[in-house]
Amino acid sequence: MTRALFISDLHLSAERPEKLDLFFRFLDAEARRADALYILGDLFEYWVGDDELSDPQGDALARRVADGLSALAGNGAQVSLMHGNRDFLLASGFCQASGARLIDDPALVVLNGGKTLLMHGDTLCTDDHDYQAWRRIARSADWQRDFLAKSLADRHEAIHDLRARSKEVIAAKPAEIMDVNRDAVKDVFRRHGVRRLIHGHTHRPARHELEIDGTVCERWVLPDWYGPGGYLALDDVGPRLVAF
Ligand code: MN
Repeated sequence: MTRALFISDLHLSAERPEKLDLFFRFLDAEARRADALYILGDLFEYWVGDDELSDPQGDALARRVADGLSALAGNGAQVSLMHGNRDFLLASGFCQASGARLIDDPALVVLNGGKTLLMHGDTLCTDDHDYQAWRRIARSADWQRDFLAKSLADRHEAIHDLRARSKEVIAAKPAEIMDVNRDAVKDVFRRHGVRRLIHGHTHRPARHELEIDGTVCERWVLPDWYGPGGYLALDDVGPRLVAF
């Protein structure tokens, strides 16, 4: 029996040191007793590049998080990391420092005999056209090369500007636009032939049951850690959401 834990949307940042403490307590307790930890995106509030870890001016929080994960991996847990829309620049440098392996979005995993599809969740929010347009730009090799060519300080500044602008845009958007699109959800279930999907991003933790082509499917949405936080545990008993 494998016991796997799933977390996402921790949005770790120096602005919320109490969440960093919570993360380390989670690593030392619940995660210690698990065989696998899946981080499904937005571990960090934002990520400007892996050189954050080695630069003396870099954020100390980045190094502490990598060390914490590395201790967990060293203890035998398999740590898997998926990009979120905030930390999609995490790359091999962070993986090396943390002992995590980067997994694709979506990723199909087989746990205790059952197939489960893992996603961050942002690609399911297809009604948010502005965001999807920005995503295509930010995930392009050209944009990333140009961005990473800037100094660490310039990158931090650019991200602060982007965040300020995105806060205004989000405040002006109807809430339903920022949730998943029903057809996009059905499409991934069909395309991947799964009955279970776990994702984060929307900050609307829940278990949704839906019927697709006569089959009952379940969509689990992970909690964000802006609030109390929590995780999803999956073992032979089945999946369940646990709030802190
Ligand atoms: Mn997200």
